[in-house]
Amino acid sequence: MSITFSCPDAPRARQECEFCAMERASRYPLKENGRGGCCDDWCDGTSEKTTSPTPNFSNVNARAILALLGMDSSDLCGSCDGATLRQRILTARGSDRSSALRDGRELQPGHLGAGVVDGAIVRRGCRVIEGGNTDEQTMRRLAALESLAIFAQGNGWTISWA
Ligand SMILES: [Zn+2]
Repeated sequence: MSITFSCPDAPRARQECEFCAMERASRYPLKENGRGGCCDDWCDGTSEKTTSPTPNFSNVNARAILALLGMDSSDLCGSCDGATLRQRILTARGSDRSSALRDGRELQPGHLGAGVVDGAIVRRGCRVIEGGNTDEQTMRRLAALESLAIFAQGNGWTISWA
């Protein structure tokens, strides 16, 4: 799961379909669909994307950044204006950011419990590795959010995350 920050009111623009571009870059023969696309039957070779920067962080990193910014980190949905976010980023850059530091870890097998399959007890749950977080990564995330905040403030748009 991840959290994307963006300006929902920012205009959208037609761009070349990234899946078609990957298909064309592959070494396999193309299956043109007669509508300009090749990635799928419905694709016309373009896709509509927001013009807003869209920094995307894992849930755990988004929670740490929101807490660092003094925002509610218990709810991973929210919104604010660009000026507020810029002020909070400036404050966070000059403050103690050690609360966002984490060591990487691997969840022990069986985090989804155990069950009996064919008479044998098996542990449920795939292998899950949680990456750590350094202060440099925190500063990069703050820089990505600042680009979005400047974009939002310059256009008077609200920033939302979910
Ligand atoms: Zn396509």
